[in-house]
Amino acid sequence: MESQYKKELLAKDRQYVWHPFTQMKDYAEQDHLLITRAQGIELFDAEGKAYYDTVSSWWCNVHGHGNPRIKAAIQRQLDQFDHIMFSGLTHQPGIELAEKLVHITPEGLSKVFYSDNGSTAVEVAIKMSFQYWQQIGRTSKTGFVFMENSYHGDTIGAVSVGGVDLYHAMFKPLLFSAHRVPSPDVRVLGSARTPEREAALVADALEAVRALFQERADTIAGIIVEPMIQAAGGMVIYPAAYLAGLRELCAQYDVHLIADEVATGFGRTGTMFACEHAGISPDILCVSKGLTAGMMPLAATLCREEIYAAFYDDYATQKTFFHGHSFTGNPVACAVALESLRLFEEEGVLEQSHRAATELSSELRAFAALPQVADVRQIGMIAAMDLYQDAASRTPFESGTRIGNRIYQAGLEEGLILRPLGDTIYYWLPLSTTPEQVVEITERTLRVFQQVLGS
Ligand code: PLP
Repeated sequence: MESQYKKELLAKDRQYVWHPFTQMKDYAEQDHLLITRAQGIELFDAEGKAYYDTVSSWWCNVHGHGNPRIKAAIQRQLDQFDHIMFSGLTHQPGIELAEKLVHITPEGLSKVFYSDNGSTAVEVAIKMSFQYWQQIGRTSKTGFVFMENSYHGDTIGAVSVGGVDLYHAMFKPLLFSAHRVPSPDVRVLGSARTPEREAALVADALEAVRALFQERADTIAGIIVEPMIQAAGGMVIYPAAYLAGLRELCAQYDVHLIADEVATGFGRTGTMFACEHAGISPDILCVSKGLTAGMMPLAATLCREEIYAAFYDDYATQKTFFHGHSFTGNPVACAVALESLRLFEEEGVLEQSHRAATELSSELRAFAALPQVADVRQIGMIAAMDLYQDAASRTPFESGTRIGNRIYQAGLEEGLILRPLGDTIYYWLPLSTTPEQVVEITERTLRVFQQVLGS
């Protein structure tokens, strides 16, 4: 790109744009990275420098950027028709995608309600669960439960069930109140971690839920969880036994289990859906991000037939689910999602990602040996580690060090987009990442660590 034009664009960026999750003052003296091209797992800036997209463009991208089959699917759909509303009208991509989702998601989910991003998928789940209990006459079941450290999006309902104070505390006066339960964060066990201690930690966390349900289940509609990994809350990977235990408690106490697979869905954890690690099915499932392979905004909330049935009646009974968004079921996005699922079936996407994940786990060993690194963890194509001034004693860096941000900046020099969560550095790799690219990415990261941490 011509350098004068680049300068003008970045000046306008500063003048007109407010970026998400960004302290804009950080960019007073420094430019945002201007991307002009993306191909495979690489992004290219205005000078043509390549960066590995190690966070899959906010955990969305699945098959790499610019996949020709996805591009062709967009074109085919646009040649027929673009956006149309999804109430009173319907369309083939929306219908066939719903059918496909019912078949590939955990057993028992039979209806698909579309929206257009992860937060709205969660809003739909909360309202659906709430209205269900109202309509079957159990009107006191209005409350929700969430895990500490959880993140379900930034709209007010989703924030009400959010457990990350950094993002959520400010908005407390706006939120509905919900019950917070402990997260089975195995990191607290440190080097004392054994299968027995881990099982005891899970049992304690489940006991807190059981005690709450025992006392309050008649006032609780649902519990919402991020299956297997609390992502935005610090990439906290927890044992599948917790999820299995929650499933049992929800069945026992008649509470909806809402699985928020907005981040984990579509292969990222090594299985198509993270619930599969525990062999469970939720009552309500939220998906987005990887649904369209990260190429278009789309989300879906799936539910069991008995939930749907509680809304299905004569209009006069006023049981309609009055919820919808302008871009609900966007046909181009649905066509993209269908093509992405065909790619999964026809191109062995999950199997290829398993090979890359195996390479990743062996490369991670080098990080575990560093004196500033603790709790190296991995599930499928996601890996994370926490940085400390001294990892052995879990002594954090002094506040204000913003070590994660320094790693991010140094990563750019090395051609890596590493977007840390505080002092947690993580990879959230596209499933198309090859084992060779995994090696290249981890080697570059080690160089960044060497430079910033001196290790
Ligand atoms: N749920 C989970 C588990 C997420 O990780 C996210 C976003 O990161 C959301 C919901 C919100 O999705 P969106 O950013 O599309 O609103």
